[in-house]
Amino acid sequence: MMIIEGCAVATVDASGTEYADGHVAVEDGRIVAVGSGSYPGPGERVDGTGCLATPGLVNTHHHLYQWATRGLAQQENLFGWLTDLYPIWARLDEQVVADTTAAGLGWLALSGCTTSSDHHYVFPNGVGDLVAAQAHAAAEIGLRFHLCRGSMDLGASAGGLPPDEVVEDTEAALAGTEAAIDRYHDPAPDAMLRVAVAPCSPFSATGKLMSEAATLARRRGVRLHTHLAETVEEEEYCREKHGCTPAEYAERLGWLGDDVWLAHAVHLDAGAVARFGATGTGVAHCPSSNARLGAGVAPVPDLLAAGAPVGLGVDGAASQETSQLGVELRQALYAARLRGGPAALTARQSLSLGTIGGARCLGRSDEMGSLEPGKLADVALWRIDGLGHAGIDDPVAALVFGPLATVELLLVGGRPVVEAGRLRTADERDLARRTVRAHERLLPR
Ligand SMILES: [Zn+2]
Repeated sequence: MMIIEGCAVATVDASGTEYADGHVAVEDGRIVAVGSGSYPGPGERVDGTGCLATPGLVNTHHHLYQWATRGLAQQENLFGWLTDLYPIWARLDEQVVADTTAAGLGWLALSGCTTSSDHHYVFPNGVGDLVAAQAHAAAEIGLRFHLCRGSMDLGASAGGLPPDEVVEDTEAALAGTEAAIDRYHDPAPDAMLRVAVAPCSPFSATGKLMSEAATLARRRGVRLHTHLAETVEEEEYCREKHGCTPAEYAERLGWLGDDVWLAHAVHLDAGAVARFGATGTGVAHCPSSNARLGAGVAPVPDLLAAGAPVGLGVDGAASQETSQLGVELRQALYAARLRGGPAALTARQSLSLGTIGGARCLGRSDEMGSLEPGKLADVALWRIDGLGHAGIDDPVAALVFGPLATVELLLVGGRPVVEAGRLRTADERDLARRTVRAHERLLPR
């Protein structure tokens, strides 16, 4: 039994229960008690004085391989940025994927993230087993991992955006995705690794791949993920090619439902927002990436009012160089307020997006996303008594409005992954060296 006590606690349960001075007790990978004051029983004590305990953050959208290609195409919109980067990504291999997955997940852990998805969709021919490389690197760092086996089958010669050398044959993409499910998907409630089916986008995957991917996911009982309605250019592409909006196109292909979560969803009309709510379709909101690429601001308060699950995502590091999930709590709040005024989103709603909202997107709100007895012991303990936060009375406001807080302790299934702001499962200098190695494999000097 480990008992964190003496800290503020924001449980993010359905009633929004908080304790100004409380405890969280964990045993055998699960939370066994949460409450005010000290825990009465015996156990290893962790002094949480000066800290806030929250559920570990859940990252619903990322492309970890992009960790090696940050700082490029600095003034481009999505299509220009992709066109610049695809030829570089065509050089990636098993080594690059292993190094960037480890480095990117280590960095996410330092910003309070306990579960991350990753959407990997670049599978050049003959470069090794990229899925295995991701699975092994995630186990090395110790975060829960949702491996979204991506795919692209619509190359430039067929009217798509990506060059032909980075796309797969449709049948090969589906077979590779099913093989990943066979080998790595763990449906157990305490799973460290799950697999989702994830063709890349309407402008890089054919309608055949999208609809057969949905059939595959439903036959195997796994979730569906893709990019949708990110930019005005994507909307123009859909209207021109398919005569409808991206959301209408997704629905036509069987891609709305409570087993689907979609990255971005910036350009939705009122009808699409209502359909997302009615079908339980989730949204991975990526406010920093949307700002970096000038894509726009997703209608998050409208989606929440419609009842759609909304989680936060850092998105790939090449379009969001900080890649710190804790920072997205503030970015989500700022983005909503830039669009809808100062009451558009509260600090507590933002924390909820980053925790239980993300868990809903991943289909795991019964297992994670709040601090409640019986849930997985995925806990972030944030230090909020230093210079950056001292004097802010409301601990949740300190966390969300203030600078990114140091993670004093990060537990994944009760296992410490971060302690006193340092990664315990890997050497940060080694991860930095591996980042440089990956970068130089993609961009040789
Ligand atoms: Zn993305």
